[in-house]
Amino acid sequence: MKLNELACFLDRAPAILSSDPLSAAFLDDVQVIGDQQEFVKRMDAPQPQPSARMVIIDAQASYYERLPRVTLNHDPYRPELGNVLYEKYHDIMRWAFTQKDIAGRILSDTKVDTIILVLVDGLSYDDCKDRPSIIPCLVNGATITAVGFRNIIGDPPLAYRLFKKGFKSKLGFSYWDRGNDLTNMLFQGFDPQAQMHRVAEFEEIIEQLSKRRLTKTFVQIVLSGLDQFAHYNRGRPPIKELVERLFGYYLTAIAGVVRQQKLTGLLYMISDHGIWWRPRPSEKSAIVVPDDKAKRKRLLAGHLIRNNVLHVTCYGEAYSLLRYPYIFRDFKRTEWGTHGGLSYYESVVPFLKVEVF
Ligand SMILES: [Zn+2]
Repeated sequence: MKLNELACFLDRAPAILSSDPLSAAFLDDVQVIGDQQEFVKRMDAPQPQPSARMVIIDAQASYYERLPRVTLNHDPYRPELGNVLYEKYHDIMRWAFTQKDIAGRILSDTKVDTIILVLVDGLSYDDCKDRPSIIPCLVNGATITAVGFRNIIGDPPLAYRLFKKGFKSKLGFSYWDRGNDLTNMLFQGFDPQAQMHRVAEFEEIIEQLSKRRLTKTFVQIVLSGLDQFAHYNRGRPPIKELVERLFGYYLTAIAGVVRQQKLTGLLYMISDHGIWWRPRPSEKSAIVVPDDKAKRKRLLAGHLIRNNVLHVTCYGEAYSLLRYPYIFRDFKRTEWGTHGGLSYYESVVPFLKVEVF
């Protein structure tokens, strides 16, 4: 079914959507229902029924016969998603698959010897969506490192919750150049001497991992993704090659350690935020809102920007998220990408779960 056909359908009756629920957010006046049981209860109640278009995304088998099911021929992961996120941000965050769901996913499947979480700094879903088993996941709030990683780790931190589920050993890996505050936050509960390794290059991670027996161990690794290439690089970064190195070499080598020890494992990968790569000269360019405090204030108050900025609070900090293709300042000469705003490129990150046996 096409998106406009679903709209006509919903004008007549509610339906269960078997496709990605984000597609429903592309329609006007649609209420997305996450709790089907609650919905059925409301439908059965002797009171006037709401006339809004309603889509149910929590499809429970027991209710299948009750409501029609539809499958959509629509991919919500496209540049227009930025607008949809902007218009319906708070609603979407209630029911979509976001970074805040990751810890729960990991905790729901712990019957293995080793759990490895690879946190990648800067990688868009768009740049690796063709690889096997990649699932799109939304960033909650500002698309910056401190917010993204915090969304994923959760509170209490994942390592702590896995410890309670039997993962008594933990090992952490981070690069030397990482800011201390962020590392401390990400590796809260890891003993800095015995359980943390600050490495200069990837091979050290494999070397250290190979030295330990990884039974009932939680391994958390922060890898530099593409963020560093976005902020400074001579020439446009070779995105395809960098992505290939991450999947074809880094993740393969990490999984290889578990396999070598003849253990069972689950390897997860997710990034903190995506990157909106600098448009090529032939592409639609960014619309710059100058990064000058006084000017910005005027512009924010003005119509154009007021209609394109979303104010959110993440972990006590206030952020103004500009929707695509607005940007607070133009790209510097050596800058190839940006993040921090609300767009398909920045707000959708790849999530990967691989069984290692
Ligand atoms: Zn980052």
